[in-house]
Amino acid sequence: MTLETHQADSLPGMPNVEANAPVYLTEATEKTPITYIGQPHTNSSTANSKTNKAWTLPLGEATSAAYSWPDAPDSDVVDNPNAKEPSYQMTQALQAIPGYETTTVRKGKPHKKKDVPISRDFQQKFQELPAPLSKADAHGVLKDHVSHKCCYGKRVINDLEVDKVINVPVHQYKLSTFTETRQTIRLFEPFKGQKIDNLNNPFPPTIWEVKNSPDSLWKKHTKKCTVPQSSTIETCHGCTGRGFNKCYRCLGRGTTKCKKCKGTGKAKADNCLECAGSGNRRCQLCRGHACIVCSVCQGYKQLHFYIQLISDFNVLEDEVWLNATKVSTKSLQKLKKSKVIETENIMVSPIINYSFGDVNNASDSLVTKHSKEPTKCIIQQRHVLFALPVVEGQYVWKRRIKSFWVYGHERLVYAPEYPESCCGRCACTIV
Ligand SMILES: [Zn+2]
Ligand SMILES: [Zn+2]
Ligand SMILES: [Zn+2]
Repeated sequence: MTLETHQADSLPGMPNVEANAPVYLTEATEKTPITYIGQPHTNSSTANSKTNKAWTLPLGEATSAAYSWPDAPDSDVVDNPNAKEPSYQMTQALQAIPGYETTTVRKGKPHKKKDVPISRDFQQKFQELPAPLSKADAHGVLKDHVSHKCCYGKRVINDLEVDKVINVPVHQYKLSTFTETRQTIRLFEPFKGQKIDNLNNPFPPTIWEVKNSPDSLWKKHTKKCTVPQSSTIETCHGCTGRGFNKCYRCLGRGTTKCKKCKGTGKAKADNCLECAGSGNRRCQLCRGHACIVCSVCQGYKQLHFYIQLISDFNVLEDEVWLNATKVSTKSLQKLKKSKVIETENIMVSPIINYSFGDVNNASDSLVTKHSKEPTKCIIQQRHVLFALPVVEGQYVWKRRIKSFWVYGHERLVYAPEYPESCCGRCACTIV
């Protein structure tokens, strides 16, 4: 026979029992097979002591519940083993934490970050681009291009004179910002007397002063920490400081209706064997005490509330192509580019004095955009500028100015306005 034993001070619903109370035996819960302790019931003439043992109270055990609940029902209820413990709502106001007045037990919105001014570096060094093609070179590239196309008018190229070349490099600017957003939540745990700094005298650092460095840069992740000196001790809202709650299976009676005899205590003319004629059974959850340990404070009556900081690290990326040509950006994206400048710092200075103003403007606008994110604090930033050489060649044909473009280090040609460009009967393209 296996007996289930409990220390009296760890019994459900008995948080105030003296620590040295004797060990005693109880009926097992539904999780383990019931072991009947005490004397088999012998009042019934039909009782078979070998096969039908009615349960009786173990020797030395009291029959009364440990706590008398004024709102317990007048009669035993039918036990529902699937009943769920009710949730205990927090109704009391918690002690305010200076600087964290908006932090509640629910995760709040990200906190506003502090504005940091953008610094501007006028000493930026840029990689020189190769010199743009001369008029003669541009003509040579176009001639070579035409000679490889089946249906381009070959005669035209010799009559055609390139009057002008314009240097129109295409730029790709990328800005990446490693950011952190901070949210806070007020959490609690049972207060077991653990050592806590500045207990009930919360004086925490401000939200952005709390140290919570990322584990690695440029990697999306979340990191949590406790805000120092944010602790308060509060009376448990689950049990209002009692340490125990009313048992939700027997509704605070300690007993439930015997299922066998439906509470009558009778089986035909005899007493019910299941309940020994009492009509009820000891509650399997609270084991007759009518109380259960408060699940919120685990019986400790008080809760340690503290603030948890949740940092979300993320990467913000923006990219812009500055293309003033008629060559599609899509056809440029796969080509080899030259790096003009690349910088990584806590915050980058926007590109200021590059020779192409639209690049300066684009960089300034993206750096400003990232710095103006209201809740994303900048941890690290990097930007890179690539250039792709492009020249626009111009010539006059039939008194009209026509253009063609030589682009990329590969010197590819885009000449949509080339005279006699297609016979119209073949699949040849003009690129
Ligand atoms: Zn109970
Ligand atoms: Zn019964
Ligand atoms: Zn409690």
